[in-house]
Amino acid sequence: MQKPILILGACGQIGTELTMELRSKYGSDIVVASDIREGNDTLMESGPFELLDATNYEAIEDVVMHYEIDEVYLMAAMLSATAEKFPMRAWNLNMNSLFNVLNLAKDKKISKIFWPSSIAVFGPNTPKENTAQNVIMEPSTVYGISKQAGERWCEYYFNKYGVDVRSVRYPGLISWKTMPGGGTTDYAVEIYHKALEEGEYKCFLDKDTKLPMMYMDDAIRATINLMESPVENLKIRSSYNLGSMSFNPEEMAQSIQKHIPDFKVTYAPDFRQQIADSWPSSIDDTNARKDWGWVPEFDLPATTKEMLDNLRKH
Ligand code: NAD
Repeated sequence: MQKPILILGACGQIGTELTMELRSKYGSDIVVASDIREGNDTLMESGPFELLDATNYEAIEDVVMHYEIDEVYLMAAMLSATAEKFPMRAWNLNMNSLFNVLNLAKDKKISKIFWPSSIAVFGPNTPKENTAQNVIMEPSTVYGISKQAGERWCEYYFNKYGVDVRSVRYPGLISWKTMPGGGTTDYAVEIYHKALEEGEYKCFLDKDTKLPMMYMDDAIRATINLMESPVENLKIRSSYNLGSMSFNPEEMAQSIQKHIPDFKVTYAPDFRQQIADSWPSSIDDTNARKDWGWVPEFDLPATTKEMLDNLRKH
């Protein structure tokens, strides 16, 4: 039987949908959402919630004891674009929150951790196309450096202390339920809102900037599949490459124009262009497919249809 779960940073883009899916799968009472701010009504009304700072070890420990938590999903982080503005705050949040959950598991207070890494672990010297699991990684952003260090620490805690920590390198995520939180791929969500509301969009990346992306339903399914996989199947304890689709802003605009023919996009790259230029264009996720059966379901046309249909309805 599933034991109680705690989600740190549950009110963000991924945490909101992850919490709802875990609650519908395992029961609302045993999925405790937490964040430093309140989330949307659906999340707040569907199960237990705690105001909780992921950098405060004692506060997390109290909640873990109170609810007899067994698994922690750590979704609190400062994302790539915001982290470039506040490097020390990003490092503090991204690293200390991870140490807190790793140390809780090391001290046997919890037994399983999910911690997301990112395609930002790669850098400008990494081969861009079909980027493999183990390649040269020299991340050039604050966020990427924190994710790479995090991966090293996860693997270290697994090898040294037997901590069952599981991770994927998410690509840019596209969802209609929650807005993205300050990343470099945020354009791929904003564009749908602007297409419907204003019929035009000024994109902060160049039209030919191809990046790996994924529809949120696929990302949530990957996360839960990995967490449910038998421990003996998992061969990678840093973080698994996770792929789905890759496209550039112009291709995304064209997919929207099939539904909204008059939709116009202009391009005005800002500081986020440099971040995007340091990331891969597509991902080789052979290990995730082989070890725990990963198969994505949504391509760009399916994503565009889901996004436009749902945003129109809500
Ligand atoms: P988000 O910014 O939407 O949400 C993060 C949440 O953490 C927010 O609700 C915020 O209030 C909360 N938070 C901030 N500081 C906190 C603190 N001290 N204590 C507790 N909560 C705090 O981010 P997201 O997109 O949901 O990302 C979740 C995780 O997935 C992050 O680790 C991120 O790096 C990773 N990731 C996301 C993407 C993506 O495209 N969204 C891609 C790759 C990796």
